[in-house]
Amino acid sequence: MQTKIFCASFLIFLLSWASPPSYAQSRVHRLAPDVYYWSGDLSTHEQTNVGFVVFRDYVLVIDANFPWAAEKIIADIQAITPKPVRFVFNTHYHADHTLGNSVFVAHGATIVSTDDLALELSAKGMEDVRDQTKINWKHLELPSIRFQDRLVFDDGQHRVELIKYGQAHTKGDAVAYLPAEGIVFVGDLAVNWTHGNNLSDQDVSYVGWIRALDNLAQLPIKTVVPAHGDLGDVDLLRRQRDFIADMWKQVKQGLKAGKSSAELRKTVQLTQHGIFAADRQETEDTIESMCDRARGQADWNSGDGKPE
Ligand SMILES: [Zn+2]
Repeated sequence: MQTKIFCASFLIFLLSWASPPSYAQSRVHRLAPDVYYWSGDLSTHEQTNVGFVVFRDYVLVIDANFPWAAEKIIADIQAITPKPVRFVFNTHYHADHTLGNSVFVAHGATIVSTDDLALELSAKGMEDVRDQTKINWKHLELPSIRFQDRLVFDDGQHRVELIKYGQAHTKGDAVAYLPAEGIVFVGDLAVNWTHGNNLSDQDVSYVGWIRALDNLAQLPIKTVVPAHGDLGDVDLLRRQRDFIADMWKQVKQGLKAGKSSAELRKTVQLTQHGIFAADRQETEDTIESMCDRARGQADWNSGDGKPE
């Protein structure tokens, strides 16, 4: 199975080699002085946008993507700065954000995450790797610098605040916030593409996610870098929040009115939410998951999500 992946990446390498990259084709985008992101690409199974910040003595990377992407990301960083990639921050434990950790570690980096992410990655990481890659991977690189709620990198030139917002998409969700630049890398808390963001996942807290996006939107933000899709601003956070909140509300009201999950899959109306509702299968899976969750009361007991 691994051979297939390497053959595919070799083919992609040959194709890109045949057509030399121009500036317009570059996957590295500058957001502010010393602040960049490398754009993900689903067609090559490298779908995660990866941030990097060039500090005085080192580079901090935000999310690791897959190993075959990590090699390219490191090369692209080295084309911009000779400073070493010393730290890689994982926004959450899913394989498209963490499987590349081992490549960065082999290049001398140390992985950083919340305590909860480290627990989730060791308990459930392999399962997610198998789901996403269909490969029985031998080793997952766990974070060795861990924090509970907040960790700050500040060398006087740049400041990056890693702030926990989970449980939302997963328990260990955290973002990287650059207060001076008004930039936030939000992982999968908000996405800006048509493929959804695993809203039906077992780790999701709907109430927690809505609250996290409300809290994030309070920050003075100019630029939101989602882990998947195009850049946005605070409006992206609000639209992602409204999509989840609207679906959650309609599901709860439907259950109260005695509708079955099969009926709700067909009747919950979300087309006004544009790309967030573009993947109908994902939306229907989420409605099913919300029905299970609402019936189990799990989220209703965890905050403001009481039945209306
Ligand atoms: Zn992701």
